Amino acid sequence: ITAFLLAYQPAERISKVLVQIQKSVVQAGYMYEIIETPPTRPAAGDKTFPEGPGALEFDAVSFAYETAEDGVKALSEVNITLNPGEKIALVGRSGAGKSTLVDLVMRFYDPTSGHIRLAGTDLREVTDEAMRNAVALISQDVFLFEGTLRENILDGKPDAIDEELARAIEFAALQPVLDMLPDGLETNVGPNGSGLSGGQKQRVGIARAVLKDARVFVFDEATSALDVENERRIMERLSAGFADKIVLFATHRPATLAYVDKILMLDHGKVVAFGPQQQLEAENESYQNLFAAAMDDTAEA
Ligand code: ADP
Ligand code: MG
Repeated sequence: ITAFLLAYQPAERISKVLVQIQKSVVQAGYMYEIIETPPTRPAAGDKTFPEGPGALEFDAVSFAYETAEDGVKALSEVNITLNPGEKIALVGRSGAGKSTLVDLVMRFYDPTSGHIRLAGTDLREVTDEAMRNAVALISQDVFLFEGTLRENILDGKPDAIDEELARAIEFAALQPVLDMLPDGLETNVGPNGSGLSGGQKQRVGIARAVLKDARVFVFDEATSALDVENERRIMERLSAGFADKIVLFATHRPATLAYVDKILMLDHGKVVAFGPQQQLEAENESYQNLFAAAMDDTAEA
């Protein structure tokens, strides 16, 4: 299974994929191969986040990849606060630092300097479990393990009751997909969801994340394979519902901007614009200058 992933995934994604699949792999009994890969996740603390909604705060956050030449920073002095309930589009041209920021929020890496806090607690201070429960990543390539659709969705919350499952399916516009499959929820998705299209997999990923009830949801180009109508439905539900959730959309799609409260624009690892779209359009020169490049639909995520 490792060989398959190594061959199939872009190099920078491998470590994340390993983190994500660990659980299902354990169940399948393949753990050995994976364990021999050095742990990529930093050591966890022993705290939990305080109850209730809290802001996600970047306090002088800088980050340089170990392999970066001359210690060039992928993120540089990021100082922003995302409040509970806020929906934010993360934009910037290719290489600006969007995925790096996403990876720090997921705690795949720690900042080289500075602090990221959720509800006032540094991400470094909490247990892996607290971290896992707090954040949900819906990536462009949703990982599905071999098993039924029900199992894959319930991975977000194994003890979910039927009503919760139904709500997640409705939210992710997944019912039409289930209706087309002979065994519905009991359909086996095949190795890495090979029986499903990219857009269908993304909807399964969204259903799984919705079920999870995290505090911070991060969509990294996660609706890129959806048709316009399904994307619209899902974006409307995400922006209207999710009252106290922080939702971050890394995107190149101009249409996404209609559903968010604020836009966060990065360039060369720095925040060059942060605020409501109208305000940035009126006042922010960097935003105006970079908009076309940042919103190039053909650019890589
Ligand atoms: P974006 O998602 O906005 O396209 P990234 O966060 O992927 O930008 O990249 C920001 C910078 O960090 C780029 O200069 C990129 O080349 C570099 N970078 C990204 N991932 C790695 C990595 N795994 N190792 C070294 N450098 C990286
Ligand atoms: Mg990226």
